[in-house]
Amino acid sequence: MNNTEKEDGVCENKLCNNLDAQCSISSNSTQGTGSISANNNTDVISLCANCGKGEEESVKLKSCTACKLVKYCSRECQIAHRPQHKKECRKRAAELHDEKLFKQPPPKEDCPICFVQLPSLATGQRYKTCCGKVICSGCSYAPVYDDQGNEVDNRKCAFCRTGWPKSDEEEVQRLKKRMELDDPIAIFNQGGYYREGIRGFPQDYTKALELCHRAAELGHAASYCSIGCYFENGHGVEIDKKKARHYYELSAMGGDLTARYNLGNNEGRRGNTERALKHLMIAVRGGYAKSLEKIKELYSNGHATKEEYTTALRWSTLMRLKVLNGTKLLQHERIIVTINLLIRSNI
Ligand SMILES: [Zn+2]
Ligand SMILES: [Zn+2]
Ligand SMILES: [Zn+2]
Ligand SMILES: [Zn+2]
Repeated sequence: MNNTEKEDGVCENKLCNNLDAQCSISSNSTQGTGSISANNNTDVISLCANCGKGEEESVKLKSCTACKLVKYCSRECQIAHRPQHKKECRKRAAELHDEKLFKQPPPKEDCPICFVQLPSLATGQRYKTCCGKVICSGCSYAPVYDDQGNEVDNRKCAFCRTGWPKSDEEEVQRLKKRMELDDPIAIFNQGGYYREGIRGFPQDYTKALELCHRAAELGHAASYCSIGCYFENGHGVEIDKKKARHYYELSAMGGDLTARYNLGNNEGRRGNTERALKHLMIAVRGGYAKSLEKIKELYSNGHATKEEYTTALRWSTLMRLKVLNGTKLLQHERIIVTINLLIRSNI
């Protein structure tokens, strides 16, 4: 990626109101008219947007990586065409960025015990260092009964039946083993120990940040949110709000609701209330209760409609009920049956 593209590829902080727009080059912008269309590049002949050279002339044309709207035969042509293309490129790059940013990824996997979808919030789930499974809190804390109906000692992992760690050292040892398997949650958790200086680890922001990066690269969205927090608060790094936002965005695109909420707040503070509302609505839909307060504020200040606020209120209530139902009724019933089966078959 060259420097020009890098600079132009960043979000323009403008909300695109027309995400479905078919992108084509305006007829007066380039010699390469009709060279490519962002959403349909099958039925048009590709031409270099600067010199008009076509692919048939044994030249491999390369798309502008920021906007994907135009193609060029060479780097020279791309540079020469930049002044004409810049504005359109930035606009489309910002649109493409927003399309990705405001799209929630598919929901998380199910709890491996009760097969109910794992809650989006970290508080609704527990990570097990014994087997590396993430189990819903309902299953984690559900009482266990034998087939006579007597409550049994449940100091065991609800999934693999390994006993709970007896000490911090044992927990740390288990985590170490999981880290050797490149388990991103284990890596992220150890990062947390360094950040707080707990469980025998010295406080070391640099090490913590390094581990966060490693976990994030392995696909752990919450790690990107943490990196954002380091930059927002200047922990072990210079305060850099732009970088903080960048990492929050990566995290939110990976489905992290805290990052989504932080972005909503961030945009609200910057006066971008429309973007703020979009982020907060996604967060509240995922069950992030604090978002509702912020949406209420936007509504009181005339930046959200009554309908939007009512919708947020409905989502928030629904998610609360889902959590209550999930953990208190449905999951308990299922877990009792599941664990009784496990006990019977002597696993
Ligand atoms: Zn060319
Ligand atoms: Zn471009
Ligand atoms: Zn469960
Ligand atoms: Zn386990």
